[in-house]
Amino acid sequence: MASPKFEGWLGKSPESVKGKMEWGSFEPKKWTEDDVDIEISHCGICGSDLHTLKSGWGETPYRMDVACCVGHEIVGKAVRVGNNVKNVKVGDRVGVGAQSRTCQQSDCPECSTGNDTYCARNMVNTYASFYPNDEGKSMGGYADYNRSNQQFVFKIPEGLDSADAAPMMCGGITVYSPLRQNGCGPGKTVGIVGVGGLGHFAVLFAKALGADKVVGISRKADKKDDVLKLGADQYIATDEDKDWEKKNARTLDLIISTVSSAKMPLTGYLGLLKTRGTLIQVGAPDGGELPPVNAFTLIANGVKIGGSATGAPWEIEEMLKLAADKKIKPWIQERPMKDANKAIVDMDAGKARYRYVLVNENYGKH
Ligand code: NAP
Ligand code: ZN
Repeated sequence: MASPKFEGWLGKSPESVKGKMEWGSFEPKKWTEDDVDIEISHCGICGSDLHTLKSGWGETPYRMDVACCVGHEIVGKAVRVGNNVKNVKVGDRVGVGAQSRTCQQSDCPECSTGNDTYCARNMVNTYASFYPNDEGKSMGGYADYNRSNQQFVFKIPEGLDSADAAPMMCGGITVYSPLRQNGCGPGKTVGIVGVGGLGHFAVLFAKALGADKVVGISRKADKKDDVLKLGADQYIATDEDKDWEKKNARTLDLIISTVSSAKMPLTGYLGLLKTRGTLIQVGAPDGGELPPVNAFTLIANGVKIGGSATGAPWEIEEMLKLAADKKIKPWIQERPMKDANKAIVDMDAGKARYRYVLVNENYGKH
């Protein structure tokens, strides 16, 4: 098949986050026989799309005539498949998350040990990254088509709806991986801080992995009913519950923090950990800043702070299988792709309950 016509929502400056993306055509990465072209049916809106559009993590490469098309929770149909591609054929329903390619060398300490996500040699993100060998820039999924390297293109299991699977590709795996890697399961009590897109997946997955008790921790009380319905056993509203730190001190084995702002009571969260407990930060505030932590907050209780980035291919496959087997149903709100600008403004205002998924009205009409 010839190359499809790539068109999508283009951010051209940090102002684009205010609902000023422009629809237009773009040059995908250069085709190689390791690539898959995907006709996009759905794309979730991740908090990272907003950080990137506004250059919140450093300057987004808005340069030359190359704009930035965000979106890394992509699901659609494989319409062109390179000769070297092993696991996908034309017509398959596939998904792509936040990463598109790593070095994949057998002597890479990360790629050779199932930690591809942390490859330090050659990491290409699904958008706003540059491929090696002058293959061009990666462009994301607020678009009609995406071109990605086979390494991070996954078949979606039959039992999962495309709209549900899309936000799992980043939002889901980003919390599934640290839950699994830090022993979430029977016998453990787990706190989830920040109940947005990632946080709501964390409640669902922590329950699915069999944690004894899951506690949703949010700023306001207004999400309480939802979070209990999602499966949490307890809810804490840090802006509103009096003495929440004292009342819940040393009750949790593991905390996953999805908070996307540096304005968080981190010391208070750490006080909720049992001795030897672990807090994993996955939320990535603008500038990467976290509040300062006093050394004795860590020492006096023997607790750890860590971080985690999205997930490796094997973890993504495992998560998709678990979601299909356990019929995990995320709470999503479908928005038309043509209204992507309105949807990112609503997302920025914290209105999503709990993940917006863009539905491409052009899908199937090319
Ligand atoms: P989201 O739906 O907007 O959720 C973010 C949550 O953070 C909000 O729901 C809110 O929770 C909490 N929050 C926001 N401002 C806060 C503040 N000032 N103080 C305390 N809590 C605050 O976004 P998302 O898509 O879940 O993404 C969350 C973060 O994870 C983003 O920074 C994103 O870039 C990052 N991320 C990281 C990775 C990774 O690989 N590590 C991957 C994907 C995304 P409440 O309203 O419940 O308080
Ligand atoms: Zn994301």
